[in-house]
Amino acid sequence: MPIATIDPTDGRVLKTFQPLTEAQVEASLARSAEGFAALRATTFEQRATWLRAAADILDAERDEIARTMTVEMGKTLVAAKAEVSKCATACRYYAEHAASFLADEPIGDPSEVKAVRAYVRYQPLGPVLAVMPWNFPLWQAMRFAAPALMAGNPGLLKHASNVPQTALFMEDLFRRAGFPEGSFQTLLIGSDQVEAVLSDRRVAAATLTGSEGAGRAVAAIAGRELKKTVLELGGSDPFVVMPSADIARAAEVAVTARCQNNGQSCIAAKRFIVHTDVYDAFATAFVDRMAALTVGDPQDEKTDVGPLATEQGRTDVAELVDDAVAKGATVLCGGTAPERAGWWYPPTVVADLTPDMRMYHEEVFGPVAGLYRVSSYEEAIEVANGTDFGLGSNAWTGDPAEQERFARDLEAGAVFVNGMVTSYPQLPFGGIKVSGYGRELSSQGIREFCNVKTVWVG
Ligand code: NDP
Repeated sequence: MPIATIDPTDGRVLKTFQPLTEAQVEASLARSAEGFAALRATTFEQRATWLRAAADILDAERDEIARTMTVEMGKTLVAAKAEVSKCATACRYYAEHAASFLADEPIGDPSEVKAVRAYVRYQPLGPVLAVMPWNFPLWQAMRFAAPALMAGNPGLLKHASNVPQTALFMEDLFRRAGFPEGSFQTLLIGSDQVEAVLSDRRVAAATLTGSEGAGRAVAAIAGRELKKTVLELGGSDPFVVMPSADIARAAEVAVTARCQNNGQSCIAAKRFIVHTDVYDAFATAFVDRMAALTVGDPQDEKTDVGPLATEQGRTDVAELVDDAVAKGATVLCGGTAPERAGWWYPPTVVADLTPDMRMYHEEVFGPVAGLYRVSSYEEAIEVANGTDFGLGSNAWTGDPAEQERFARDLEAGAVFVNGMVTSYPQLPFGGIKVSGYGRELSSQGIREFCNVKTVWVG
């Protein structure tokens, strides 16, 4: 994949970049090691001051960086601006809370371990390689970077090849915010250069957000090198609607949950599993709303859905829908890519899905919803848990006992009841099964790349 900015609205190549040479990568790794020495010697207060300065820059330059993201990957400008603001919030959150998340933890009674004093101390591991995707180009990288920098771990960002300008902005942001040289660097490299970087002894660990395939590849290298990884991979989140739910509200939120970010979100609801008693009412309201979305220029404030980010992404989505239709599925709206330049795909709802169809099992990374009819709670759980993914899950029910059952039975890293899965700095984020392992955000996220050091004083 070339490292380039390609406008997804029309496919024009706007700017290309040369990947770093071996010598340039070496220089970056050396700077990262020096950055680690410098960063770990700073206080939480100092790092918090720099991270707050980064948040201020994000606020001040919100519109400009939002436009860059929209040009590079097609998300609506409205969504891009919200993403920048969310990044500023995450920076301030970790600036405020990192010191308490990583404070020494004394154990209750040291005499039980024959000590005078014993405690746990959290210390940084060293430079962390972050392999990141293009779908939330600033947020995905920031939710790694903010806790990493507060913990004292330098970041090495290998961003997706189609968002190089956003990637370069990240490095520039932390430099201008005042972090020491080498604290955060963007490596403009292809995925074929990841192995060399991760194998380098100066790199301590890796985090990857992206596809299952990329996750397996990076985890295999890290496994060989015995380096810690956090993986946030794909999802095919269920959105279960039960008879006691507020159907109108569920249908309204379902549209946002599916079509946010032009349908390209790991935690987008993708499979809509509806109890037969309310299936027709939900399906009608949902399809009407999906069909009414405005597809168009992502820079236009009235646009709900822009193009998909890449040509390959559009091909993948179209192939999954075509496969389902060929095997007997019913298209309730959308379903055909328009004949025009750019990587467009309309909001689509597909019903009558069966296990022989790829859509039943695979992640659809575009504005395409699968609709499933079930006749009991047990069947809803069976369908919801019937994929290899386990990232987020949504359940709609007004019955408190059923809410508890969903919280217990849905196999996922998160269960959101009567709302859509959303990431917040305050909540742990991550998956189970092939959606990955480890957690980002909250106190759990910042501890992933720490040495949990036991200190015993006799
Ligand atoms: P990828 O997983 O291929 O890309 C994500 C990141 O991983 C990019 O930086 C990419 O670099 C890198 N990468 C890819 N393959 C390797 C490898 N073998 N070794 C090291 N690094 C690698 O995502 P795609 O853009 O190709 O999207 C494909 C599918 O992935 C989507 O349809 C969706 O299902 C899923 N996906 C999930 C995301 C999520 O948020 N969980 C985000 C994006 C995609 P480069 O760009 O240079 O190839």
